[in-house]
Amino acid sequence: ALLIEQDCINCDMCEPACPNEAIYYGESIYEIDPDKCTECVGHYDDPQCIDVCPIDCIITDTAHKESPQELLKKFKTLYHL
Ligand code: SF4
Ligand code: SF4
Repeated sequence: ALLIEQDCINCDMCEPACPNEAIYYGESIYEIDPDKCTECVGHYDDPQCIDVCPIDCIITDTAHKESPQELLKKFKTLYHL
């Protein structure tokens, strides 16, 4: 999964770009639900949130590092495939 860093400026760009509805407004910045973030595996070649973020504040969540296979499995679970 990916992680939004504290320097997020709440520009609202990433939330609608996420195909899994994994991004939500948290206590003070946008946050990513690691249970829903597939790093866009299953939908796109690149993480859409990173593509749209104007300040590049989205990084790999080191607490939730997953292989491509694990991300694909999460995608299939999310969509009951
Ligand atoms: Fe959503 Fe993809 Fe960003 Fe994960 S990488 S939060 S699935 S847009
Ligand atoms: Fe924050 Fe980047 Fe999302 Fe904008 S696109 S709300 S700056 S994480």
